[in-house]
Amino acid sequence: MSDISTLTLEEKARLVFGADFWTTVGIPDKGIPAALLTDGPHGLRKQAEGADHLGINQSVPATAFPTAAATGSSWNRALLSRMGAALAAECRREEVDVLLGPGVNMKRSPLGGRNFEYFSEDPLLAGELGAAWISGLQALGVGASVKHFAANSQETDRMRVSAEVDERTLREIYLPAFERVVKQAQPATVMCSYNRINGVRASEHRWLLTDVLRDEWGYEGYVVSDWGATWDPVAALKAGLDLTMPSTGEAGPATVVAAVRDGSLDEAVLDQAVQRIVDVHARLRAARTAEAPFDVDAHHALAREIAADSAVLLANEGDLLPLAHAGGEIAVLGPFATAPRYQGAGSSHVNPTRLDEPLAAIAAATGRDVTYAPAFRLDGEGDGTMLAAAVDAAARAEVVVLMLGLPDAVESEGWDREHMDLPQVQLDTLAAVAAANPRVVVVLSHGSVVSLEDVVGKAPAILDMWLAGQAGGSALAQILFGDAEPGGRLTETVPWRLQHTPAYVNWPGGDKVVRHGERVYIGYRWYDATDRDVAFPFGHGLSYTTFAHELLAVDVPDAGVAAATVRVSVTNTGARRGSDVVQVYVGDPVAGVDRPVRELRAFEKVTLDPGESTVVTLELDERAFAYWGAAGWTVEPGDYVIEVGRSSRDIVAARTIALDVPPVTPALDIDSNYGDWLAHPEGAQVLAEVASAGASEGGASLFEDEAMAGMMLQMPMVKIADFTAPGRGRETVERMLEALQRVSV
Ligand code: BGC
Repeated sequence: MSDISTLTLEEKARLVFGADFWTTVGIPDKGIPAALLTDGPHGLRKQAEGADHLGINQSVPATAFPTAAATGSSWNRALLSRMGAALAAECRREEVDVLLGPGVNMKRSPLGGRNFEYFSEDPLLAGELGAAWISGLQALGVGASVKHFAANSQETDRMRVSAEVDERTLREIYLPAFERVVKQAQPATVMCSYNRINGVRASEHRWLLTDVLRDEWGYEGYVVSDWGATWDPVAALKAGLDLTMPSTGEAGPATVVAAVRDGSLDEAVLDQAVQRIVDVHARLRAARTAEAPFDVDAHHALAREIAADSAVLLANEGDLLPLAHAGGEIAVLGPFATAPRYQGAGSSHVNPTRLDEPLAAIAAATGRDVTYAPAFRLDGEGDGTMLAAAVDAAARAEVVVLMLGLPDAVESEGWDREHMDLPQVQLDTLAAVAAANPRVVVVLSHGSVVSLEDVVGKAPAILDMWLAGQAGGSALAQILFGDAEPGGRLTETVPWRLQHTPAYVNWPGGDKVVRHGERVYIGYRWYDATDRDVAFPFGHGLSYTTFAHELLAVDVPDAGVAAATVRVSVTNTGARRGSDVVQVYVGDPVAGVDRPVRELRAFEKVTLDPGESTVVTLELDERAFAYWGAAGWTVEPGDYVIEVGRSSRDIVAARTIALDVPPVTPALDIDSNYGDWLAHPEGAQVLAEVASAGASEGGASLFEDEAMAGMMLQMPMVKIADFTAPGRGRETVERMLEALQRVSV
């Protein structure tokens, strides 16, 4: 622990605010160096001059890795960890202490402006990949800042809106990715979000920043505000925020000093925040033992490998892909072929070390003739001459590669989209091109989900590259010709229409409030519960080879423990080497509360040669079966369905297991219903005694009449007793509660 005992009150107050836009305060003569924090998360954005957090000013060249929308689709922990290590090397060269990422918020709606920065609509997947990224980064002494904590799923009014979310939904959906990251990888910092949660600003949310994050999850790093998320620095410190960024000038420190002096802030609270900040930075510096050279070429190659492993082959009718290296002419169409869309806009914007142009990469990868036509303009305007030239090229070619997607101007941090459609000019181009030559491969570049209603069926092959980073162009060429395989699986459902999406009627809220009315049913949890047809389900993605899965066993340990070990064999039954993701879902068909049909509870990516088999063992812990109820995490005894799926909609094997765990019965009180008494083991005994006493007194016992009993299940016991003996209900139930205590001891 660093010694902070010699610091004056003024020095301590300065240390909990930024010195400028990106650095913390250093007090060299007291042995405290300044630390440098920069964005994140898919490349370093270190600004040499002209600081801003909106992606406006230039930054030093850095590898633009694929964005999280892409990397999430890799489902590949090891690759994410290598990406973290590569980012750490770049940070080390630029003397960056903390990289502001990863983002593990949930994709609540396809309209979310920052969806490209987030991994998934599923908390397990986001948490696992986030933890892998952080472990890779932090092993080399560079800190992560997992963000944006919490329930920051939209950009609309992001600095004021209150996300109204019930506790079960927070616990099951919006917090678990953070929890997993904290418990598995202890990020150096957690970045609190801009928004309010149930009325309280994240930066002042004691329950979130202290009770849950520290006391429950055991968080050891420091909490930093998102840039400008602190409003009341004293309230924030008291709630558990440690560092406010960026600098507030003299104002913030002066407020803190005054609060300590007038007794409204306990100096110990300030000390604790200072201690956490200086300790984290000292630990990071001490961890920088291993060499971490920044090899520009190697990082570019890694960016390419990740891009390929993240590409999702959505459709491939007639095995149109991969294309043969030799053959007839290929028409490459669309302006993205020469000006690729490969990263998002806003604070994560990177100045790439180089950029692979898809068209050039395709031409270099094949001996076939390649012609190019831009086909449409990115500003959305139609151009008949351009379209005619593209249709001509398509008609002449043997196969067409048509690059579609969302231009920069259509999605960004800072605002949400209003629809999820591709620009009409692009859909018109597809229709015209497909009419001239049906052998069309559509390649998509975009950060958040787009409607594919007018693409599916028109193009036999659809390859989703997401925002694939600076080497996306060459990764695309490799995939097109089978030199790499598309390794991705969807981390979010592609619905047919916006109206089908879970948050549709609650998005983006108004009057500074956004209600999470769909509760735990986001993403596939919603589509599966409502049995809604989707364009492509969560987990979907084709390969150039085929796989067979067999659910070998689901072993349940001794009675009393909620856990299971799942063993799945995977065989590559095709003719090419390829990767597959074993997805294990758990469902609780008979539950005391409404629950999603299935939830992803374990996954593993494997790569196999043709004919090769492997057995994957996946562990399900207590949380894999639990829901958040009145008594906290609750696992009910009884049957659970364990499913192995190629997606949430393509379940290839299932087994029902029984968990022999003690029932969780809510404590009985004066308010309890007849049904609660009946379900409670000792309560039922007391009930039986009351009933037989009533019968022996010759009175009509309500409890003996089955039809009556059925009607009364949901009536408070007090009321039933009142009907039997008017005015004496409360007294009767109090006696029953006393009897219960006797029975229970
Ligand atoms: C963003 C953060 C980012 C920070 C610093 C904020 O506006 O929400 O994600 O790390 O700026 O650029």
